[in-house]
Amino acid sequence: MSKYYIYTDDVVRGPFTLENIAMMLSSGRISSDTQISTGKNTPWQTVGERPEIRAAAIQLQQPPAEKTASNDDEQIFYCQHCQQKYRGNSSWLGKDIVCINCHEIFQAANGNNTSSSTATAADPIENVNFQNYMPGLEDGDIICPNCWQRFHSEQLLYIASHPALTGDPVLGPGAMLRFTPTNFNALGQALDDMNCAATEVACPRCRLKIPMSIIDEVTHYFSIAGSQGSGKSYYLASLLNSLRKTMSNDFACTVVDVDPELNYVLDSYEETLFRSRHRNAVTVLPKTQLTGNDYVNMVMLDSIPVNLPKPFVYELKQLNSSSACKEDCNIVFYDNAGEHFQPGADNMINPGTRHLACSDGIIFIFDPINDANMRSICDQREPQLQSFDRIYDQSKLMSEMVARIRRHRNMDVDEKCSIPLVVAVSKYDSWQDNLSRDLRDLPLIDHPQSSLSGKLIKNTIVDVSFELRELLMQYVPELVNSAEGFFEQVLFVPFSSLGCFSTPHESGQLGVIPEQLSPIWVTAPFLSLLAENDWLETTSAAPAGLSLASQIIDDYILFTHPVSGKNIRLPWNYSQAVLTINGTRYSLPLHPKAMNRPGKCSFANNSSSDDMWV
Ligand SMILES: [Zn+2]
Ligand SMILES: [Zn+2]
Repeated sequence: MSKYYIYTDDVVRGPFTLENIAMMLSSGRISSDTQISTGKNTPWQTVGERPEIRAAAIQLQQPPAEKTASNDDEQIFYCQHCQQKYRGNSSWLGKDIVCINCHEIFQAANGNNTSSSTATAADPIENVNFQNYMPGLEDGDIICPNCWQRFHSEQLLYIASHPALTGDPVLGPGAMLRFTPTNFNALGQALDDMNCAATEVACPRCRLKIPMSIIDEVTHYFSIAGSQGSGKSYYLASLLNSLRKTMSNDFACTVVDVDPELNYVLDSYEETLFRSRHRNAVTVLPKTQLTGNDYVNMVMLDSIPVNLPKPFVYELKQLNSSSACKEDCNIVFYDNAGEHFQPGADNMINPGTRHLACSDGIIFIFDPINDANMRSICDQREPQLQSFDRIYDQSKLMSEMVARIRRHRNMDVDEKCSIPLVVAVSKYDSWQDNLSRDLRDLPLIDHPQSSLSGKLIKNTIVDVSFELRELLMQYVPELVNSAEGFFEQVLFVPFSSLGCFSTPHESGQLGVIPEQLSPIWVTAPFLSLLAENDWLETTSAAPAGLSLASQIIDDYILFTHPVSGKNIRLPWNYSQAVLTINGTRYSLPLHPKAMNRPGKCSFANNSSSDDMWV
């Protein structure tokens, strides 16, 4: 069978089968202008110049002649939403299937495996066959951080270490061989076919490497979302750098790189900005790419090429028994390219945003400079204000994110989401005059003398969140409303990754001068999420204020703003907050929901995410 290699985004990818290529062509991932080759020593052509590909793509779209029942177990299923037809077997029964056509989730049930009269109406991609679907994997206690497949530890694959053992049916000929071990040495290490000890493991489904600490410890997942140009690469680099410091200086734990190879991209960004040898030269980070190698692994899953966002995995390790972190654990970050959120980008081939639904916390980065209204209150000296290219209604992105989580978690229209959300408002240094206090003067961490570890002063964040929320209500009320309309716990947290203005680079891009870097509150959004999940010790060390006449209605706390006289409706996560309004402190009442918070719905026991991928 012919193998094909394609050239996209400056990278050669492959090998792919004819079927894969046809699938990519019909889904629009490649076009008839894409460069294609059948291997070494064969010329590059365009896809359009290879008639067999067009023929295969057309065949994909045409209903094949109805097969006679050659396979006893074969069953036909239809998507309940769009009637897309699927050919499967009885192992599909009861499984949630993400429809390749309409992206809705439907359940493969006896009721929908008979052809209905509407079934012939629309069959855009006929006969989708998930050949490599692995039944029996789904109830294990390990979750792959790459593809979110759940499986048992005995199903782990080992990665050969002898350099001669290469080739993997999913990852291609260049990858090291993956194998199920049968021989072990005296130390209990798995041996590859050349008798070399294999110490790295891989997922049985996507075949990508899984850090060993994921097998041994609890893992918490965090997603970063935000539009193109909202500076997510700068944010992640700055967060990582500040997190290493604050975790060891303030919370008696340390941030460990579990796998330098896996975290290479983020570590190199941190290095570029914070350990630069040319501290006074303008430095630029590359833009997050949808299918570039930096943020995405491209693998064949169930015989369909998919782009999986790369996880960045770190371990939080306690330094001593007083550590503010309650146990050693892994923290995994996923970054999303803005393009992942474009309508239609969330399909089988680019399931880039699916991790949002499985997250323990989401940081949504809102960039005031890219907002048509809010940029007017930003410091006009910031060079980014000279460009109007990236002005974008970021509340649309929020709505799109909400829609996807609802879909992936199979939620009812009025059901609220229990994942804590932080709307992190970036570039604080360029709009700081709009808040009454300077963040740099506010206490974030309390250091009790009796303890080796500090505690997060959560009220400082909640207090600032209220003031920032008021500001956003003036300029982008739809953002606040769509966030609070879906998420139960929302905090608005200002920060600045750089703490200085950007500087034009000779390439025309905007960069930063490393010696000017002075991040402000860059860890606050993440520390809030740790605290919301009860994984970080907090203190309520806020002196009480005047009590506000308020009412508790459903999930909200209602009161009249003591200065503006407006009616304010805050979500219950402001329960017992002490808010500073015009220099006076006011105490909010206890909301019953905060008193008996339900057990944390963590990734590991969240059944709704089990079949995310089937
Ligand atoms: Zn469908
Ligand atoms: Zn996997």
